[in-house]
Amino acid sequence: MVRTLTARPTVKLGHLIGKSYESRFTGDVTKSTYRTCSLPERPDEGSRVQAVACEYCEELVGFRIYSIAGTVRLRRRWLVLGCVGLVVSGLAGADLFRSHPLLAQTAGLVVLSAALVALGLAAVIAGFIGCRQDDGVRLLSGRPRHNML
Ligand SMILES: [Zn+2]
Repeated sequence: MVRTLTARPTVKLGHLIGKSYESRFTGDVTKSTYRTCSLPERPDEGSRVQAVACEYCEELVGFRIYSIAGTVRLRRRWLVLGCVGLVVSGLAGADLFRSHPLLAQTAGLVVLSAALVALGLAAVIAGFIGCRQDDGVRLLSGRPRHNML
């Protein structure tokens, strides 16, 4: 699902108000409960650093909020990252299975090739998610109990 870009970011500032723990058949589950508040509207162009007051505790939390065009550029970067990851993992993976590999000639380089495949696949996954879901908002100050939701 592609996150639609609107004048006001759809991600919210969340204040953690509680955690609960449940034991299930598949394992323990932690449920976090947040109180949320909306972020201000995007700038017309570029990006803006802004402190947002939490509606629950009134603590200021810093964000960088990108314009719609800026967010589209961020999504393109995610797409480029995913494409680079696809190429790297494809080349490294193909090299592992060649009869005369370029990289994987020793055991150490086999590990390196396998690591490149894994990193490339991680970049593909991150790029695929980022190019569809990035809302152009970055949390600048890591405040305890606060998160982007
Ligand atoms: Zn708060």
